[in-house]
Amino acid sequence: MVKSSKAQKKSNGNNGGGKPAAGDAPPLTAARVSSSALPAAAGVSSARQPVVPKRHDMWEQSLRQLDATAKSINLEPSVHEVLRHCKRTLEVAVPVKMDNGTLQVFQGYRVHHNQFRGPAKGGLRYHHEVSMDEVKALAMLMTWKCALMNIPYGGAKGGVVVDPRKLSIGELERLTRRFTSEIMIIIGPDKDIPAPDMGTDGQVMAWIYDTYNMTTGHAVPQIVTGKPVSLGGSLGRVEATGRGVSYITAAVAKEKGLDLKGLRVAIQGAGNVGSNAAKALHEMGARVVALSDVGGAIYSESGIDPFKLFSQVGPKDSIVGFPGTKSISNDELLALDADILIPAALGGVLTEKNAGEVKAKIVVEAANGPTTPEADEILRGKGVTVVPDILANAGGVTVSYFEWVQGIQYYFWELDEINTRLHKIMTKAFANLWALSKRERIPLRDAAMRIAVSRVAEANKMLGLFP
Ligand code: NAD
Repeated sequence: MVKSSKAQKKSNGNNGGGKPAAGDAPPLTAARVSSSALPAAAGVSSARQPVVPKRHDMWEQSLRQLDATAKSINLEPSVHEVLRHCKRTLEVAVPVKMDNGTLQVFQGYRVHHNQFRGPAKGGLRYHHEVSMDEVKALAMLMTWKCALMNIPYGGAKGGVVVDPRKLSIGELERLTRRFTSEIMIIIGPDKDIPAPDMGTDGQVMAWIYDTYNMTTGHAVPQIVTGKPVSLGGSLGRVEATGRGVSYITAAVAKEKGLDLKGLRVAIQGAGNVGSNAAKALHEMGARVVALSDVGGAIYSESGIDPFKLFSQVGPKDSIVGFPGTKSISNDELLALDADILIPAALGGVLTEKNAGEVKAKIVVEAANGPTTPEADEILRGKGVTVVPDILANAGGVTVSYFEWVQGIQYYFWELDEINTRLHKIMTKAFANLWALSKRERIPLRDAAMRIAVSRVAEANKMLGLFP
């Protein structure tokens, strides 16, 4: 049977701490059993724990990816050199009065990688393993993602070294307000617009919004995105990343001459992205045969109805044991004989150790960085089409852009309009990518990087160098 979070914690020896939910969807107080809920040391069999690349490698890896792209497009060395650096990095100390009367100082970061194409845009992550290198790598990734989607932003990211689940709601609010105040020198509606990421949600964005308003003396709804709808958030933002994943999955299936109806889809992750991708794909007629969370995976050859699943399993409960499904491990899910595999949980889950076992012919990267470079090579060798994260999960930042535009106009769109515009932007970006990949006979990931870096370089060329 479906376990309650309490039972889940007990059976896994979890102490209640751990990693938070990613993205803006579930409030921190109600996140579906997330990455955080069950850390590796908590008694879950180690075989189930994917190998996650060391987070401090991320910046080096991002530079290597840029260097390879620069070579392939003959990027002017001076532009290449500029893009190898983050434009601005800010490290702040955030003193917070804790509930027990003591004072604790948290480390925080905000980074702008680039602003050639517009204000910097990127999430704010609360996680105990946040580092400056990780924030820099994620800021650079945002530069490429926004350029690829052709939305007028540069890349930013922020983070605080904290496990938010160990804070009371009051401590979380005081931390957020003081952090906002510390980074106010570089954020602004036309400078840098934060958004939720792992460990932050709509409530955190609401506190940032309020702190900014109180300090400037007037309401600035376009200072953050991912706000609650009651404060000027956009309809469809919560579902946007998963919905975008479904649009891209449908587009790639079509290009490969496959009818999405009846295609067997396996999704790793049942959080914000995984659950919304499952629902959207189910609506489109695909057969979701497997889904997982940190506690394990469920499988049904005849298909799982995600609407039924997520209406019956509480946000803090595991999906494992859902009636009518068979329990399998997360490793088995990745190697399932499905048509499409969608990793929508953690980074680094497809490695040189398990990529050879992947049977799906299409992998859609809904998570950030789920495929290591070694695994990418193996999948390429097997003829698997890998749709890169900077395209597949860009639905979130695209609807964040819509939220910013709506905030500037003080005019709010209907959900239909938002989804239509999202579909248009995502399928156009996919079509460009697909055409380049075919023409140059290169993987979609390389095509994505070439398009993104070329657009940023073009903006740089027009701007010139100040002074
Ligand atoms: P989430 O916390 O809501 O859900 C994560 C899911 O992964 C949960 O179901 C959790 O149980 C599962 N999980 C955790 N550890 C696991 C493990 N070891 N094995 C298998 N499953 C595990 O997070 P989310 O918002 O759905 O984000 C998922 C991924 O998508 C992340 O990589 C995130 O960076 C990326 N992403 C999210 C958004 C967004 O808008 N939410 C946007 C872009 C990218």
